[in-house]
Amino acid sequence: MSTVRPPGRQLPFTVRIIGDGPAALATAIGLLQGGVAVRCRPPRRPATASALPPRADSLSPGGHALLARLGVAEAFAADGHLPCHAHACDWGPGGLRHLDFISHPQGSAWQVDRGRFDGRLRERALALGLQWEPPDNTEAAPPVQAIVDASGRSSHFARRQGARRLRGDRQLAWLASAPAAHAPGDGMSLVEATADGWWYSAPAPGGRWSLACFTDADLRPSPAQGHAGWLQRLAAAPRTLDRLIAHGVDARHLALQPARLLAADSSRLDRFCGSGWLAVGDAAMGFDPLSAHGLTVALQSGLHAAQALIALRDGDAQALPAYAARLADAFDAYQRQRLALYRDETRHACHRYWQRRRHGGYDGTTSSSN
Ligand SMILES: Cc1cc2nc3c(=O)[nH]c(=O)nc-3n(C[C@H](O)[C@H](O)[C@H](O)COP(=O)(O)OP(=O)(O)OC[C@H]3O[C@@H](n4cnc5c(N)ncnc54)[C@H](O)[C@@H]3O)c2cc1C
Repeated sequence: MSTVRPPGRQLPFTVRIIGDGPAALATAIGLLQGGVAVRCRPPRRPATASALPPRADSLSPGGHALLARLGVAEAFAADGHLPCHAHACDWGPGGLRHLDFISHPQGSAWQVDRGRFDGRLRERALALGLQWEPPDNTEAAPPVQAIVDASGRSSHFARRQGARRLRGDRQLAWLASAPAAHAPGDGMSLVEATADGWWYSAPAPGGRWSLACFTDADLRPSPAQGHAGWLQRLAAAPRTLDRLIAHGVDARHLALQPARLLAADSSRLDRFCGSGWLAVGDAAMGFDPLSAHGLTVALQSGLHAAQALIALRDGDAQALPAYAARLADAFDAYQRQRLALYRDETRHACHRYWQRRRHGGYDGTTSSSN
């Protein structure tokens, strides 16, 4: 599969990308901009996917420059994503704190409508010549010179190559969305620490609110309680609850809406590349959503992966190991930040969720959820 060519000879070089999220599409755009042919293989989607709530993620200010490099900055600005001017945090002994993006050199953060955001990247990649393959197409697939695993936290391809997913915790997210009666005036997201984890809330595009509860798999409400169990937990997050009520978000409405339960652990592959393949975005390393860096890491690692594959095509046998070393450094830096953040919250230090995060160990178990 892997072929290293003498410099100067441009033999056909095609890359297959497994996945269709932001990391896959950023890699595809980077490769297509460098003259490399790309075939993208999406997942087989269950028929129930459309019933899930719309997803809004926060894009940190550093995302602007990446969108410009991908050629979608103008389209992004016209897409109705919500600017997020400040981030409030009830975390640690000092109580409520504000991080104001007005003084940030790269401007405000954004609450992005993930459907529209991913759609813009897809549109750009298609305009550059991206080809889609049918899902699960194995036997009939034409040969390629390299493969990119962009399958999110499932690391679908890398694990089939023998790589293992190392996990620092077993965090899950309960994710819901509801319409608000009053327009959000403050353009602000809020994180609130509680005994069993933390809550995130923010206005989302389309007059909705996005709400998420993060806790460990063994600390979540019992499945028999359904949504009601999660909404009971909301009482332990008074700032979040008060803010939702103030904006006219009806908790009964939340209880009736479909919600998602997603893996939100800190984890990484034990190796980020092999012969003729590499992993990008969440498939390589999953950051705690507390960092709000998942999207920028997906876009950045996609662009770096594209550079590495173009260098491989041009005969640089060290390009993939150098890419992997860069990811390892980024994960180490993230891990130090994560430790400091969780150690900062001392008010709930006697509870299991917080005790587990005071140490930085990673086990060798394999994550199966995405
Ligand atoms: C609850 C929650 C909240 C978050 N909030 C934020 C936030 O506010 N800000 C932020 O920056 N980040 C946030 N993140 C992280 C962010 O969503 C991810 O880091 C980002 O989506 C990673 O992009 P990706 O392309 O690597 O993976 P994904 O977005 O997961 O895309 C992977 C794609 O591959 C597909 N796939 C899976 N298996 C296969 C297969 N076998 N074959 C083909 N395709 C496959 C999946 O269906 C999916 O479409 C959050 C994450 C969670 C869980």
